[in-house]
Amino acid sequence: ASSDEYIHIVMLPFMGHGHLIPFLALAKQIHCQTGFKIAIANTPLNIQYLRSTLQLDPNPGIRLFELQFNSSDHGLPPNTENTENLTLDLIGKLFSSSVSLRTPFRNLLSDIVEKQGRPPVCVISDVFFGWAVDVAASVGTVNVAFSTGGAYGTVSYVSLWLNLPHRKTDSDEFSVPGFPERCKFHVSQLHSFLRNADGNDLWSRFMQPQISGSLKSFGWLCNTVEEIEPFGLDLLRKYIKSPVWSIGPLLPKPWLIKSSSSSSSDSLYRQHAGKEPGISPEKCLQWLDMHSHDSVLYISFGSQNTISPSHMVDLANGLEKSGKPFIWVIRPPLGFNLKAEFKSEWLPQGFEDRMNKSNQGLLVKNWAPQLEILSHKSTGAFLSHCGWNSTMESLSQGVKIIGWPMAAEQAYNSKMLVEEMGVAVELTRGIQGSISSEGVKEVIETVMDREKKGGDMKRKAEEIAQHIRAAMKDEGNEKGSSIKALDDFVSAIKTRKQDQYVVS
Ligand code: UDP
Repeated sequence: ASSDEYIHIVMLPFMGHGHLIPFLALAKQIHCQTGFKIAIANTPLNIQYLRSTLQLDPNPGIRLFELQFNSSDHGLPPNTENTENLTLDLIGKLFSSSVSLRTPFRNLLSDIVEKQGRPPVCVISDVFFGWAVDVAASVGTVNVAFSTGGAYGTVSYVSLWLNLPHRKTDSDEFSVPGFPERCKFHVSQLHSFLRNADGNDLWSRFMQPQISGSLKSFGWLCNTVEEIEPFGLDLLRKYIKSPVWSIGPLLPKPWLIKSSSSSSSDSLYRQHAGKEPGISPEKCLQWLDMHSHDSVLYISFGSQNTISPSHMVDLANGLEKSGKPFIWVIRPPLGFNLKAEFKSEWLPQGFEDRMNKSNQGLLVKNWAPQLEILSHKSTGAFLSHCGWNSTMESLSQGVKIIGWPMAAEQAYNSKMLVEEMGVAVELTRGIQGSISSEGVKEVIETVMDREKKGGDMKRKAEEIAQHIRAAMKDEGNEKGSSIKALDDFVSAIKTRKQDQYVVS
């Protein structure tokens, strides 16, 4: 094969939008910085989704390959190849079924090696595909694990799953191996799968071997920035022992970080998430223009979460009592079809009308142009579920956070934002967490205050934003830490020696 056709890296993301999107962003970043050609492998429906995403923003450096997978063979409903379309009880089945990708992935790698006469320089696989380490070694290359979360969240997740420390104590508070004593965790921070795990359940039987397998990778790429997570990175490096390159933030629209100007085209990201927008970016920005600097609270719980009917009412009442302007991305509450039309009866009586008339609040149905909102000067704080993308987007704009973590590693992100960065206050935890309208009002007042604690949080958030911008700098000889880390990663995989293959 000519060198033009040579595939340098083969990527294998997990089957969920929260994984596919950062992998695609990573592929683009690597191609732009190095000219490397990247193959992304996944199940047919996820490849179809990536293909339509790439049609909107074509990239000559990326090729897509389908791996044979039939959801019905694994007791899943037909055509469900992604966490997005599954109920919680079926998500575990999707995880377990993902090990069946091993053979088709091995075959794909062998075909690539045969066609190009040499192996790719590495495989980059999701942390949930620990078997990729052996598969990469079997074709003469190495596996690099990519954790789409931050360093602190990743090391928490890894250590909690591998050690299940909460099972070894009767106390609600417990220490986690790899963390100093002062960082005690609380059972309410554990997602239900983990809280109930005992080492023999479906989730432990999947997570433990996959994560342990990934620990044998040649190195790890992490979607974070060296200067903003020194503590989390130190813990992660000590825990996993192989090199960790911080190459973040991988954002849907990196240019928004550099200029703070608004972009009218939100189509690419909307397409990524497969959501219908509730409002045009222009309308949101015009609404924000009417409000003063740092005065607006933005509220959103990510791409898939919603809150319970009673939370919705308490949150609405708390917002109204606080009198602070807000933009709230609203969806049907838990227990209702998320795709259904939003009903005003889910909110306190007359709430929507009062908010419209007074201009206090803008209710956006389903999906808002998040990064545009966060980058607007009027946005002062973000009530967030602390998903890692939302966290990085907020920090990149110097916006302080009110945490309401719901699932996955969000509670560890929130813990880190509060305890290590000092840029957040946690309102509550989990989809059953308790809130009251008075509590909501108080937290909003504390965080939105320009002085005291609120002022301090703002200063810290702005410092972090500066670090993030600096890390992405790529002008001649002036390279930020994330750009350098990607260069270091590339030179490490290019110059690795044969004996660094990890065969277990
Ligand atoms: N997002 C958005 N508009 C919305 C809700 C979410 O643009 O109304 C985007 C947000 O900018 C982020 C992603 O969806 O990039 C959510 O990712 P995150 O990791 O925060 O949470 P997840 O959806 O994986 O729970």
